[in-house]
Amino acid sequence: MPEEYSMLIGGKKVKATTGEVSEVINPANGQVVGMVPKCGEADVDAAVRAALEAAPAWAARTMTERSKVLLKLSRLIMAHHEELAQLETAEHGSPIRKTMNFDVPLCAEQIEYFAGVARAMTGETLPVGPWCTSITIREPLGVVGLITPWNFPALMVVWKLGAALVTGNACVVKPPSVAPLTTLKLGDLAMEAGVPAGVVNVITGPGETAGEALVRHPQVAKIGFTGDTATGKRIMSLASDTVKQVGLELGGNNAFIVLADADIDSAVEGAVWSAFFNSGQVCAAAGRFYVHDSRYDEFVEKMVAAARQLRYGDPMSMETVMGPVAYEAHRDKVEGYIEGAKKAGARLLCGGTRPDTPETRSGFFVAPTIFGDCTNDMRLMQDEVFGPVVGISRFKDLDEAVALTNDTKYGLSASVWTRDLRTGLNVAGRIKAGTVWINEHLIIFCETPWGGCKQSGWGKDLSTMALDEYTMTKHIYIDLTGEPVKPWYGLLK
Ligand code: NDP
Repeated sequence: MPEEYSMLIGGKKVKATTGEVSEVINPANGQVVGMVPKCGEADVDAAVRAALEAAPAWAARTMTERSKVLLKLSRLIMAHHEELAQLETAEHGSPIRKTMNFDVPLCAEQIEYFAGVARAMTGETLPVGPWCTSITIREPLGVVGLITPWNFPALMVVWKLGAALVTGNACVVKPPSVAPLTTLKLGDLAMEAGVPAGVVNVITGPGETAGEALVRHPQVAKIGFTGDTATGKRIMSLASDTVKQVGLELGGNNAFIVLADADIDSAVEGAVWSAFFNSGQVCAAAGRFYVHDSRYDEFVEKMVAAARQLRYGDPMSMETVMGPVAYEAHRDKVEGYIEGAKKAGARLLCGGTRPDTPETRSGFFVAPTIFGDCTNDMRLMQDEVFGPVVGISRFKDLDEAVALTNDTKYGLSASVWTRDLRTGLNVAGRIKAGTVWINEHLIIFCETPWGGCKQSGWGKDLSTMALDEYTMTKHIYIDLTGEPVKPWYGLLK
């Protein structure tokens, strides 16, 4: 029997008042790995109320105290390293070599980062005049709702939770229905680390009901959201009723530009990494490749050869580098893009099929797929596929490369591959995106800000800028004149 999980509300493990549950499916084999409560509006309200009650005491703690709790959480994550990695692999299909070596250690590292960096937070003294002192202080927002996607189930929570918790907020987390188990485990570990009851609540339920109830809740000060652009738009409009702040980390279709002077072998390594890591289910994954005419054939030949070497199969095997996509309907959507690209006239260079091996037959696998001769009007080059399917196109000069790159509703990230750093920097400056890498793609650090522009959203996760996202700047003015009547009161006299 699959394990039946509980939500975390007010420090207690609870079922949904609806009495309903939903299944979490292992995408590598279609088996049920757990059952989670399917909460309703009353549960969301209970979680927000628990957070509201717990928030003042958590905010009143010193930064040092909160930081120490986070450091303990970081250590506990590593103490449960293997368990978390296996859980994420089971619910999401990410290869165990990735969840063991990347996701779980990074979660611990990022919590540790926020525990440290928040202690350096400061306010300002503003020299407005000799008769007063004007200062700014940073205050927590209160109760924040964190709504997260399934592509990196644990990491996407940690990005927001670390910054929100250390700055003194109480959180209600709504993980994705497809992969909620690691978040539930992180909630338990937060309690074990000494986070007071009610400061971290985890509710499970559908976005359309539970998620929307959280967004609409009048006592929630902010929604930190990562997910699809369409969902982000819906959240933005719902949040307007209560003039709620929203942080939106949304979709992308990220360009990978190979200039004429690029080191092709290194660009190919980067191309395969950025296209197929996590089966392409990365907001920053490279989906559109623009290669200078003079290097196109060489690049294509080498990238296709490298993609054919990727070992997909059972994600629980340390040998596997590519697992399935996260759920069946998503596989169907990705396959729809493959069919669409064929019909639109793109040239299939590799993949395009459902792998048919004993290991992959009952899972939701898509072979690494590359299309050549793509044009920017194809949906493959405009939409976010969010799977292991990419398109390659040619360009003649820098102006054309920049124009093709910017011809999108998204503005999340891009990369430029060149031996000439001056040209690389020049191109980076002309691209409308939150991050541009030169001779790299996908790499993200705790210390560097992450977030897009255009329909990829706004606000920043990670870096010290994430602390701004979960604090309010309050200005305090202190009169030092001691005079009952100030010169400017004369305007009314
Ligand atoms: P979704 O937008 O479908 O879901 C994200 C979260 O929102 C889930 O918890 C979901 O719940 C919830 N949700 C869905 N509908 C609503 C609603 N109406 N109101 C409130 N909450 C709702 O995204 P995916 O989970 O499919 O994630 C993939 C997307 O995330 C991609 O577009 C990707 O680019 C983006 N992403 C962006 C990143 C960035 O930094 N810019 C980083 C990582 C991913 P439920 O699961 O129950 O539907």
